[in-house]
Amino acid sequence: MSKYTTGEIAKLCGVSVRTVQYYDSRNIVTPSELSEGGRRLYSEDDLKRMQIVCFLRDFDLSLGSIGKLLSEEHPENVISILLDERETALQKEVKDKQTKLDKLFELKKALKTVERFSVESIGDVAYALENKKKMRRLHAILLISGIPIGILQWTSIILWIVSGIWWLFVTYILIAIPYAVWVTNFYFKRVVYICPQCHAVFKPTLKEAFFARHTPTLRKLTCTACGYHGFCVETYGKEK
Ligand SMILES: [Zn+2]
Repeated sequence: MSKYTTGEIAKLCGVSVRTVQYYDSRNIVTPSELSEGGRRLYSEDDLKRMQIVCFLRDFDLSLGSIGKLLSEEHPENVISILLDERETALQKEVKDKQTKLDKLFELKKALKTVERFSVESIGDVAYALENKKKMRRLHAILLISGIPIGILQWTSIILWIVSGIWWLFVTYILIAIPYAVWVTNFYFKRVVYICPQCHAVFKPTLKEAFFARHTPTLRKLTCTACGYHGFCVETYGKEK
């Protein structure tokens, strides 16, 4: 069996020689042998015990508690609980970090769509991302509500062509026009825009928003606060 000197055991456990000596003086980890010259010699078991002590120190346990714990009949039971707790805490930490990383990626991706990048635009985009879930829900509502209209549209067209029945298509038109008006109102009542120049959150007129050039997240509008004309970030706003 190997024997370790104070220096060796300190190095193996990543602590200082003084720490090893201190643990000895406190009877936490004592060398099982002394050399003829009176030097401390630690056994494999001593090394294991030292590693456990160092591990427990990581939990901010006092040396007194560690001493008590190790003098218990089954210290492994307590250590096993500590390990479980440590695992849970670390997993939570990893999850939190992952959430932060995901947010960062999302922000980076979103910033690429902004025409002129500035420090303030980071805030605007972050604000828009916060409301992204609500925007997604809004888009989902519109999509789902449009499905029956779409079905009616195609059924009526096919029926007209195949069987010459035209009244269903007329019905479709009669439903589709008020639906389009409703959808437009419903949508623009719920979204607001962020001006990339003055960072004001504003609502354009329905007419301007409806006819403006747009991408899924941007719309070319005139800021009501500063008069800037260009792409503004679309986000969910409070219902009025
Ligand atoms: Zn503005």
